[in-house]
Amino acid sequence: MSDGYPGRLIIISGPSGAGKSTVVRELMSKCELPLVLSVSATTRPPRPGEQDGVQYFFLSKDEFSKRKLANEFLECKEVFGLGHWYGTLQSQVASGLKAGKWVILEIDVQGATTILENKTFNPISLFIHPGSMDELEKRLRLRKTEDEDAIAARLETSVSEMQYLHRYQYEIINGSVDVAVAEICQILKDQKEKQPCS
Ligand code: 5GP
Repeated sequence: MSDGYPGRLIIISGPSGAGKSTVVRELMSKCELPLVLSVSATTRPPRPGEQDGVQYFFLSKDEFSKRKLANEFLECKEVFGLGHWYGTLQSQVASGLKAGKWVILEIDVQGATTILENKTFNPISLFIHPGSMDELEKRLRLRKTEDEDAIAARLETSVSEMQYLHRYQYEIINGSVDVAVAEICQILKDQKEKQPCS
């Protein structure tokens, strides 16, 4: 239960290139829980194939600032090293939790810290990483979505992000997507068992 609503909040963080998005997508299709992904807003431009309202709500800096001022975000941050803003929309979280869904926030370590410090929620927190920096660099290069400068920035960011690992309840090493998905699904099911009623 989160904030008096029947749903549950799940925070998933980890360095860029750790395979979070793939794990989350597979988790949603394979784990038999009422999972829903909260779609964040961002000022970064869409990558090829990304659609507004699907991966993110793509906003101009002005529009993002207006929504920030209007208090529409549960948290929003300029993510380390990326120079773009990202934010969790209150509306996405509230509608999911009210409907009894398990709402997944795939957010950075700063955003996660804000939500973990806000005692309103009782989130399940997971930190995913690929086990080593060499592996992370290999994966960032393989996905071919960033240029060299962006890869260097994301690797530098990852070193800072790893310092936040201890704040999370669960550490998931994403060596194989299937294994990571099975592990996370089991963690969530165990948490469901622990709920007084569902
Ligand atoms: P990407 O640009 O690769 O999609 O995401 C970059 C980083 O922004 C990732 O670490 C991702 O988890 C984080 N991120 C995505 N949405 C949000 C959000 O709503 N809030 C925060 N704080 N970080 C986010």
